[in-house]
Amino acid sequence: MTDLSALPPGDGLRGTTIPVLRERGQREVFCGLTGIVWLHRKMQDAFFLVVGSRTCAHLIQSAAGVMIFSEPRFGTAILGDRDLAGIADANDELDRLCVQLLERRPDIGTLFLVGSCPSEVIKLDLAKAAERLSAQLLPRVRVVSYSGSGIETTFTQGEDSALGALVPLMPRSEARQLLVVGCVADVVEDQFRRVFDQLGIGPVAFFPARRAGDLPSVGPNTDLLLAQPFVGNTVRALESLGARILEAPYPFGAEGTTEWFAAAAGAWGVDNALFQTVTKPLEDRARKAVSRHVPRLSGKSLFLMPDSQLEIPIARFLNRELGMRLIEVGTPHLDRRLVAAELPLLPDDITLSEGQDVERQLDRLRAAAPDLVLCGLGLANPLEAEGFATKWSIELVFSPVHGYEQAGDLAELFARPLDRRERLRV
Ligand code: SF4
Repeated sequence: MTDLSALPPGDGLRGTTIPVLRERGQREVFCGLTGIVWLHRKMQDAFFLVVGSRTCAHLIQSAAGVMIFSEPRFGTAILGDRDLAGIADANDELDRLCVQLLERRPDIGTLFLVGSCPSEVIKLDLAKAAERLSAQLLPRVRVVSYSGSGIETTFTQGEDSALGALVPLMPRSEARQLLVVGCVADVVEDQFRRVFDQLGIGPVAFFPARRAGDLPSVGPNTDLLLAQPFVGNTVRALESLGARILEAPYPFGAEGTTEWFAAAAGAWGVDNALFQTVTKPLEDRARKAVSRHVPRLSGKSLFLMPDSQLEIPIARFLNRELGMRLIEVGTPHLDRRLVAAELPLLPDDITLSEGQDVERQLDRLRAAAPDLVLCGLGLANPLEAEGFATKWSIELVFSPVHGYEQAGDLAELFARPLDRRERLRV
């Protein structure tokens, strides 16, 4: 149990002695368009229009698993051959399409124009398009743009880019407030709000909010508490407006969640006895839910391929609360500042790798023969065919996994593939 009085000031400056293996080679990752799947669920007045190719449309459709005749809040404006050859004026066409869309969908308050590889190849200026359309459509609809493309990105960076595009539009405020940064499911937001209320911490805003139009304010008295470790650019943009980051582990598992609340409680001067009263029963319940999966996971070895940028906090949770043995913890990008409170919680006999050279990493994986592999969709099937048990990292952003109430579900996500194998063996 975290004792607030035991937390040293400036705790986040702790480091780690684990050496980092940096690799720059072929990567197996999804692009940032994938973020639309969870962002459109969260921001219920937003529409995401990908300006891209049939491949982009395909990726989004299959990632979201939607039927073509439903009216989701995302779509693709497909660039045709004439656009790509520069014959047609893609700008005129895009403006016409957006206006049509917004006439048909009066529920849309924020329209995101999402850049893709094809729109970037033909240098279609979506930032300009957003400005042009906003001038025409405000105050009813705000149009913003960001890039979801990426050979060099990871699928979670789409969220960072989308939130980053909203930062310049946020109202400024001098008032003291806590801003939770990174998309969390509504059910998690409600639970977190209840705990902050009980601790007397507030006002608290979430970014993104349930309505993209309800932009939280930011200023020199805004404390940032991060719910996701992949929002580095957004955090830097918020810091440039005066906000300051509260370093904490991420709210995954019982321990991580308590430490996360403790960072806010420490900054807001919450009384230690009150903190214990509020969090202890919740933490105890979470530990009990997690402990159900200890017999299945304890002592099992885990190899985390770099995919979602959630690998470090998830590895910490599985190691410390479930007793899993970590072999390699891979992350696509190591932003030391954003994981400063996580790194010292990892055991120091692991390989911590950043970036990817997929063939070399697969060689290491095969040599280590782990019981379970956390990886992207592209690697899961081939690895299953080789006999490895896998868990898709994308599930960590598609399912609610933050906080006390979800700690047991998070553990179960990892227990399930091993259970399935066990049953198949019988
Ligand atoms: S944005 Fe690029 S990487 Fe992503 S689906 Fe479209 S073409 Fe593929």
